[in-house]
Amino acid sequence: MTDIERAAPAQPVMPAWEYAAAPESRDIVHLQDRYGLFVGGEFLEPKSGRWFPTIDPSNEETLAEVAEAGDEDVDLAVAAARSAAATWQGLPGSERAKYLYRIARALQERAREFAVLESMNGGKPIKESRDVDLPLAAAHFFYYAGWADKLEYAFPAATPRPLGVAGQVIPWNFPMLMAAWKLAPALAAGNTSVLKPAETTPLTALLLAEVIQQAELPPGAVNIVTGAGTTGAALVAHPDVDKVAFTGSTEVGKIIRRNLAGTGKRLTLELGGKAANIVFEDAPIDQAVEGVVNGIFFNQGHVCCAGSRLLVHEPVFDELVEKLQVRLGTLRVGDPLDKNTDVGAINSRAQLEKIGELVASGLEEGATIYQPECVLPERGFWFAPTLFTGVSQSHRIAREEIFGPVLSILTFRTPEEAVEKANNTPYGLSAGIWTEKGSRILWMAERMRAGVVWANTFNRFDPSSPFGGYKESGFGREGGRHGLEPYLELGAPA
Ligand code: NDP
Repeated sequence: MTDIERAAPAQPVMPAWEYAAAPESRDIVHLQDRYGLFVGGEFLEPKSGRWFPTIDPSNEETLAEVAEAGDEDVDLAVAAARSAAATWQGLPGSERAKYLYRIARALQERAREFAVLESMNGGKPIKESRDVDLPLAAAHFFYYAGWADKLEYAFPAATPRPLGVAGQVIPWNFPMLMAAWKLAPALAAGNTSVLKPAETTPLTALLLAEVIQQAELPPGAVNIVTGAGTTGAALVAHPDVDKVAFTGSTEVGKIIRRNLAGTGKRLTLELGGKAANIVFEDAPIDQAVEGVVNGIFFNQGHVCCAGSRLLVHEPVFDELVEKLQVRLGTLRVGDPLDKNTDVGAINSRAQLEKIGELVASGLEEGATIYQPECVLPERGFWFAPTLFTGVSQSHRIAREEIFGPVLSILTFRTPEEAVEKANNTPYGLSAGIWTEKGSRILWMAERMRAGVVWANTFNRFDPSSPFGGYKESGFGREGGRHGLEPYLELGAPA
């Protein structure tokens, strides 16, 4: 008998694991009372004279006041971008690249400051903003810096030229990452930009404005106007904007597309999703459980490509659901700045209400809910991780984007049925396939009407990999060489 066997108790006793709080310090963030608009390389008071508070959604405390850009402010920002256009596009690509490398390096150097502020203003767990959002944002600037002096190699049969001024509107779920997805390719291609962050999460974009000053970009190459939807609408409608890039809801995407029809402006839309995560009976089930959890509970489910519909092969339904329930019980919901937190705060009261309304519809329509026992903080906006079984394809929770920590579980019997159910949605942003058979992965991937298909993993992002939608998930691609194309006029060969 070995020592280990001798030492083992007859009945192993499971220790009750308690996590001590491990809060990240907020001291690294130096908040100002008020933030102006970033126009022409400077922070300016808004001509509108209006300001609005921005809060921490985990405790509803006001963090700062932010300027609300009116029409005149948007005008000034577009004019600043226009007047910088000749200088910026006149630089050799290798010079533009240097500025982008500087931004990337400054983001790496100040990553902790950005990550803490991202979690304070948006509610996402610090381990995500620290390990995902910030490294990926820096990686996008590095990646597109590399293309800036190689555009003619990226598009060898053409004469790539910048479009001019880009109006870019981004959402609240990945504020810094979306800013990087928009700005890096636009600048690398020689365009200048006016960026409009979401109303609830303006602070990291304004910190990025400081980095842009630090990197000494020509004034006006990047302008950042804060405000609500009306500011975004004024920006995309501005007659001197050449290209509009929008990420957000399908509803607003449709409005923008309608309004831009006939204007000659170039447009890319990255909109909502209702992705299927499909688990076959031969999948490594424990690994699939982790992938399913990551697919829907990452960033509280505020993810356009979230795996919000789980399609389970009937033979493994009971096993998978049981394991998911156990796993949900181990997720730690709470303080976004605690390094142990898995699920942070819901981004806003409005989003919390939307999630609540859709969950109520799931119950009314007869689905069965499961939520682990968890104590939610009293202040702030919170929603417990939620599973629904007994879901049919007609239920709203199977059709509509909930954009919260809520998973709808359906079943299938054959691969053909899985394909049909996965594609039975107006959206088409992403899909996940879990099986040990490579041939089945390829067979399924060919049939998925989704821009990204992950196999035996989920929510993997890389700046060199294009991302975008089918159907009502939008059009145009971000990331990779494809992500440069929407920012270029590809003339005939020289
Ligand atoms: P929106 O689509 O309204 O917001 C996205 C961005 O567009 C924000 O910067 C917003 O400003 C701005 N905006 C709003 N209206 C207009 C307009 N008419 N013209 C130009 N820009 C505009 O999303 P919401 O924040 O309202 O979220 C609603 C739902 O959208 C969510 O529940 C979720 O289902 C989905 N969503 C999807 C996202 C995705 O990545 N696919 C991202 C965010 C939301 P402001 O924030 O100030 O309103």
